Amino acid sequence: MPPMDTHGRRISYLRLSVTDRCNLRCQYCMPAEGVPKLLHTDILSFEDLLRIARAAVSLGIDKIRITGGEPLVRKGLIDFLEHLSAIGGLKELALTTNGLMLRQCAPDLRRAGVDRLNVSLDSLRPDTFATLTRGGDLEKALDGIRAAESAGFPPVKMNMVVIRGINDSELVDFVALTLNTSREIRFIEYMPANSAFDFPSAFVSGEEILERIGKVYPLEPVASNGLSGPAKVFRIPGALGTIGVITPMSNHFCASCNRIRITASGVAKGCLFDGGGVSLKPYLSGGDSELQAALMKVLRDKPERHHLLDREKLIMPFSMSEVGG
Ligand code: SAM
Repeated sequence: MPPMDTHGRRISYLRLSVTDRCNLRCQYCMPAEGVPKLLHTDILSFEDLLRIARAAVSLGIDKIRITGGEPLVRKGLIDFLEHLSAIGGLKELALTTNGLMLRQCAPDLRRAGVDRLNVSLDSLRPDTFATLTRGGDLEKALDGIRAAESAGFPPVKMNMVVIRGINDSELVDFVALTLNTSREIRFIEYMPANSAFDFPSAFVSGEEILERIGKVYPLEPVASNGLSGPAKVFRIPGALGTIGVITPMSNHFCASCNRIRITASGVAKGCLFDGGGVSLKPYLSGGDSELQAALMKVLRDKPERHHLLDREKLIMPFSMSEVGG
């Protein structure tokens, strides 16, 4: 049974970042000059990441998502994933990627025991994609998605961060992708990260997203199957795929949040917007019970809700690539 925090939430999900490095520089994720890179010596070894994962599963966590940076750029990842997927008690191993390296990696990821993939893809227009990602090649990302599905992964969830004036004119194009494929397209509200965009003008609420789609396609709600996390899910009647809307800003889902995060340097956070966190490094030189106790404390002390909107200045002191989104 997943452990409970002091607010009565069962915590079953760990987002584990394996690197802060990324092969893209998405404008909504980091500033133009990039972010200072962690020293190689600060990044946890795969052995330490595995110890942390085992400790988390022994406490009752049963879903792990690998994130970054871009997780696929870390050498040795496949071997690590094989060990991770073999942990007894782990029910789901997922990975979030920008898809650029999936063409080469998808079959190996599948063989290593990854159950499902989320791909971040924020525009279907090559020029916008290149501008938004500061140099990314849309065709490579789309190829990666196709390769994942050919390798036997369930239909990929595509995550699109909606930014006014940049990609919000593509909402209906994304939705149309669900007509004939069983993918889930997930629209995510832009969060005020340490990024290129001014939050108030770039932000598009989930309500507006649904309203704009609703002018073109009728939408019916889909009952949760427990796999959609915080997304509210809809379908165009008769479509194969679904549409998810994730509203961390306009309608936060803290009351049902079931996750903790660990950065590539081993900082455990009970909340994405938690500026601090607890370094697990000192506990890695001790025994397993100390590590379990440290993790359990982070989990128990998970904040009741995020307070991003209460702050005077809507900006986070870190970029998402440092925490893993
Ligand atoms: N490289 C991987 C990827 O592209 O998915 C994993 C890391 S990325 C930081 C994880 C997630 O954070 C992505 O889905 C990305 O869209 C999301 N993200 C980054 N900055 C964001 C922001 N300012 N608002 C909302 N989501 C953001």
